[in-house]
Amino acid sequence: MTERELLTAGLRELGVAECPSAADNLLRYSEILREKNKVMNLTAITDPTEIVTRHFLDCAALAPYMPQDGCVLDVGTGAGFPGMPLAILCPQTEFVLLDALRKRIDFLNEVIADLGLTNVTAVHARAEDYARDNRDTFDLAVSRAVADLRVLSELALPMIKVGGAFLAMKAEDCTEEVETAANARMILGAPDAEVLHYTVPFDEVSRAIVRLQKTQDTPEKYPRRFKKIQTSPL
Ligand code: SAM
Repeated sequence: MTERELLTAGLRELGVAECPSAADNLLRYSEILREKNKVMNLTAITDPTEIVTRHFLDCAALAPYMPQDGCVLDVGTGAGFPGMPLAILCPQTEFVLLDALRKRIDFLNEVIADLGLTNVTAVHARAEDYARDNRDTFDLAVSRAVADLRVLSELALPMIKVGGAFLAMKAEDCTEEVETAANARMILGAPDAEVLHYTVPFDEVSRAIVRLQKTQDTPEKYPRRFKKIQTSPL
């Protein structure tokens, strides 16, 4: 199977509609990613087939949860995961891709310009700093492979509107992590957690999406400074 065939079949298996130019844009993104990865550290996954499965199709599993006209924040996006594939697959939704590393944001701006995407903005900032001016702003936040759920909840939840949600991509067996974050969830305004399981097409890896629904305001004192979040997680 070619990468394009893999992508199309995988999206179909996930029930994700393939909008015009989505496959072209994803394959071009893969090309730029592999090229730039030779000179900077963007991803450990370099095989084109694995970029389709472990990056694109894994991230595409979140597409059915994207708000049609809303604004989505990707916390710690790195080389653009999960935010960039989602922005390509969901052109009606606005995306802000946030990362603390300048060179990764520079890379994402190159991808945005190359593909001519108009629904994505890449921002260089630490989440706990960005949260100061962007409280209660986003309909949804997403994140993959950034931090433990307790830490991640304190970084993301203050920026989500009441009524919005946070989708954290986790390993299949995340029950203990979700339970350990119960106190943080309660304090930060998202007491209930739902774990949704999925399998990445053609990779057969089972993964989980932890869905936190924000039902109450996050107290003003959160997020704290990063050192404090790490040393004394809620
Ligand atoms: N989400 C991407 C993925 O799944 O491939 C990248 C994962 S990488 C292991 C973690 C990323 O989170 C890094 O690019 C790092 O700079 C970013 N990061 C960690 N803490 C952050 C913070 N407090 N604010 C913004 N970005 C952060």
